[in-house]
Amino acid sequence: MEIMEEVRKRVYRFGDKSADGNSTMRNLLGGKGANLAEMSAIGIPVPPGFTITTEVCTEYNELGEEETLKLIEKDTEQAIANIEKIMGAEFGNPKNPLLISVRSGARVSMPGMMDTVLNLGLNDEVVKGLAAKTRNDRFAWDSYRRFIQMYGGVVLGMKPESKDDIDPFEEIMEHLKEKREIELDTQFTVQDLKDLVYDFKDIIKKRTGTNFPTDPWQQLWGAIIAVFNSWNGDRALYYRKMHGYPGDWGTAVNVQAMVYGNMGDSSGTGVCFTRDAGTGENVFNGEYLINAQGEDVVAGVRTPRQITTLGSKRWAELAKINENERLVSYPSLEELMPTIYKELHNYQEILEKHYRDMQDMEFTIQEGKLWILQTRNGKRTGAAMVKIAMDLLKEGLIDEKEALLSIEPNKLDELLHPVFDQKALKRAHVIAQGLPASPGAATGQIVFFADEAHKFRHSILTRIETSPEDLEGMNIAKGILTARGGMTSHAAVVARGMGKCCISGAGALKISYKRRTLTVDGKVYHEGDWISLNGSTGNIIEGKVATSEPELSGEFGEIMKLADKYGAMEVRTNADSPKDAKVARKFGAQGIGLARTEHMFFEVDRIKTMREMILADTVKGRKHALEDLLPMQRKDFEGIFEAMDGHPVTIRLLDPPLHEFVPHQLATQKELAEDMHISLLAVKNKVAELQEFNPMLGHRGCRLGNTYPEITEMQTRAIIEAALNIKEKGIVSKPEIMIPLVGTLNEFMEQEKVIKETAKKVFEEYGDTIDYLVGTMIEVPRAALMADSIAERADFFSFGTNDLTQMAFGYSRDDAGKFLPIYLEKGILTADPFEVLDQKGVGQLVKMGTERGRNTKPDLKVGICGEHGGEPSSVEFCYTLGMNYVSCSPFRVPIARISVAQAAIKADN
Ligand code: PEP
Ligand code: MG
Repeated sequence: MEIMEEVRKRVYRFGDKSADGNSTMRNLLGGKGANLAEMSAIGIPVPPGFTITTEVCTEYNELGEEETLKLIEKDTEQAIANIEKIMGAEFGNPKNPLLISVRSGARVSMPGMMDTVLNLGLNDEVVKGLAAKTRNDRFAWDSYRRFIQMYGGVVLGMKPESKDDIDPFEEIMEHLKEKREIELDTQFTVQDLKDLVYDFKDIIKKRTGTNFPTDPWQQLWGAIIAVFNSWNGDRALYYRKMHGYPGDWGTAVNVQAMVYGNMGDSSGTGVCFTRDAGTGENVFNGEYLINAQGEDVVAGVRTPRQITTLGSKRWAELAKINENERLVSYPSLEELMPTIYKELHNYQEILEKHYRDMQDMEFTIQEGKLWILQTRNGKRTGAAMVKIAMDLLKEGLIDEKEALLSIEPNKLDELLHPVFDQKALKRAHVIAQGLPASPGAATGQIVFFADEAHKFRHSILTRIETSPEDLEGMNIAKGILTARGGMTSHAAVVARGMGKCCISGAGALKISYKRRTLTVDGKVYHEGDWISLNGSTGNIIEGKVATSEPELSGEFGEIMKLADKYGAMEVRTNADSPKDAKVARKFGAQGIGLARTEHMFFEVDRIKTMREMILADTVKGRKHALEDLLPMQRKDFEGIFEAMDGHPVTIRLLDPPLHEFVPHQLATQKELAEDMHISLLAVKNKVAELQEFNPMLGHRGCRLGNTYPEITEMQTRAIIEAALNIKEKGIVSKPEIMIPLVGTLNEFMEQEKVIKETAKKVFEEYGDTIDYLVGTMIEVPRAALMADSIAERADFFSFGTNDLTQMAFGYSRDDAGKFLPIYLEKGILTADPFEVLDQKGVGQLVKMGTERGRNTKPDLKVGICGEHGGEPSSVEFCYTLGMNYVSCSPFRVPIARISVAQAAIKADN
């Protein structure tokens, strides 16, 4: 039999209205590569080029540079020839040069996290040819100087490593500016640029020991390898860790003909969105600069202009610029180049219809010809995400299921968090205004360096502009403020992605990193001073401003309603107080999946009685204290039942080790001794007695109830009495009494007996009854293994995946912080198992427990109440196991509702 050897295609071409790939090939071509192919195929004018696949990145990580380049050499040479044909130019030919860009592109967008090289193909000869061809010396030499600078940083490793390091190229430029007594890059003469090129090459030689590569092919191979390397660079690693993207995805490399927006006044460049990324409003918007390269818009060095006239007028109003000045200095693209604008407008419509989602596009105008550089589904705020989903649905562009699937559940968090208290805001002193780059409210203390964002519990990262190196600090800070940059600056894009409040381009701010001061209108603010940001208006406010709960938009309610239409599993909440229960009801919780009764004992007036109970030496003494605790618990339960108004409420009996309740400080121990009329020594002895080597595996959970049944008795009484009391008021309650940390059937049965006997007694006393269930947590691995036997008695199971994860992994919940971050960094674990359910491992116990339990009792009610109950991927897992409900903290209820709907839709598909 003939064995066909599989020939792997590694290089995919696009351009001139055709392409080898398409948008379904994201994993192979990266998001950018797949989009370029798709756009080219549907007739959008993208500069021609090719994509080296993500698989090659993985091959590179295994085989190294030499072997990898051999694999792609021939195809790359042919693909370059194809670009040359389409552009009518030649790579490395000084008379008619083709210049190219080399960019990264993973399957998901990772803005600014990896490396890019532009203007590749220039050398001492080609630069002269480029100057002659464009009759623009300045442009040619400026491109060359930019190229060497970028190549030196990205490929030859001359980037500054820490914030104290000086960028060698910037330093050379600064010296020259000082010498020439100029301030801006644009003031350099052609001779200056030539001197810079000479000096740049000189420092490269000195630092790296080799000459700057003059051969364009050598430049290209170097850049391709540098892009692959940047997949494992610090920034990309951090970003991947933050988002949980695995290392074996790899990045593709996109090589493409350069087009120039800086070839004079008929050229320009910009970024645009088919809808407003902040609010979701259906208005085309964006920013552009004339005679500039793309990086100029994003870097925020020059203030960009608005693309549409509507946007331009809105911007001018915020910036307090009058109509005359706006028309002269900041006209819209619509006003300045109406034909190009029309063409662009047409493409944005085509692209949004084609991709059926809001698009974020980059374009360049080269001497009057419009090129679309890229398009992608635009990053957006949580509010915009919801509005856009509902609008696209109403416009008929997507259906209900697609609208629901377009929601990133975790992003709803942004909508549920505090905004400024309107009254407090009225008294606020606004010191300056910037662009409302990412909505929300933030209040905190000023820090000037990203790596110092952790200095204060609430910090506002205040920068002239941000760069990808600042990512970690931006994540830690409560808000981000920059003096420069537009709505598409790094700070703005990243903040929106993080859902973090951000104001950019606040030109009135004078920031001195050296003095660590921020000066506005002559007033100086120092590191540590409080400021507040209103990311929705761009207002910068002096001091602290109180925040209040957000109002949910109409679209939010609509998408939630839609979620419930498809959601085929209950979402409950973990709540221990009537107040939390009410919040959760507002967010749509259909019951309580876990009320941790111990939380009720920590309030000041109760902890004393609790301690008396724990320190009692006799059953009588304990019962006496429990009698005092009974009315307090009963009152809480009444409140919770009322708030849940007929929805089921799962109440867990006392769970934590008693040691957690006793005083450990001398003063409080003394106080307790006096209150109880016993000696200090007796208190100390008792505290020492309660100390355990392994409290999480010690005297806790049902082991407490089984050694002190009177505790179970009191708690049961409080629950049943509360239910009967509110029944008298005409309110229905559905209590589900839950026994924690069960590992054997006998443990369960012992507790069940106490509960049932107590309930019976109370029913007799009241002359009335209510329905209630007795079930158990499944959180000890043995309980999952023995689920069939436990289900003989238990009315329901609730998986306590916090403890189950702890015990399955053998990772202490309280101590894992010491090693989990290192495990994540090293890739030993891909996600924190206490956050994202470990479906492969711990998930087996959950699956087995559910199946075995239902083997015994087919209609056994099963839910989850560990932290995972509000984490989207874990919710989906629970859905596939056929659970009856998930339960999570009140603020995560909407996230879980969407996740349930998505799980149901995906399962259906
Ligand atoms: C659990 O273990 O998952 C659980 C919900 O209980 P707790 O977190 O209170 O131990
Ligand atoms: Mg537990």
